[in-house]
Amino acid sequence: MSDCCSNKDGEKTCSEKKPSPRKFACPENMQQYIEVDKKTILQHIKSPWQYTLDELKYYFCDDPNCDIVYFGIKGSVINKAQLRTVIGKKEKDENALVCYCFGISKALAAQNPEIKTYVTQQTKEKNCACEVRNPSGRCCLKDFPNKH
Ligand SMILES: [Zn+2]
Repeated sequence: MSDCCSNKDGEKTCSEKKPSPRKFACPENMQQYIEVDKKTILQHIKSPWQYTLDELKYYFCDDPNCDIVYFGIKGSVINKAQLRTVIGKKEKDENALVCYCFGISKALAAQNPEIKTYVTQQTKEKNCACEVRNPSGRCCLKDFPNKH
């Protein structure tokens, strides 16, 4: 017998344990993307008070050719035009940000490899705030250019 719901206090319900996917397909390009916290979305959408964000899960699409940025598990979508943050990964503009915590553009990161070292160090010291400042809700280091 499954121990789901068998909490002795009777407080936990199955719905809390219901598996829900960490990745889900963007309704536009059908690629799988990783989930993002509602807290993160609220930091980046324009007029957040106009949204209910009442879906169980949301995901972040970083495809430069796709207009959708956030999408819910039941199909609601938030487009680039609905954001107040420019998504660096979706823009070809070299001045778009790669690191939102420290305001580093793609061009700056490419020019000066020391910057990545700095960000790596700050990340180790937990001085970054990627989980909210980065619209993906994830660490920006993987987005840095690897070679000078
Ligand atoms: Zn998409």
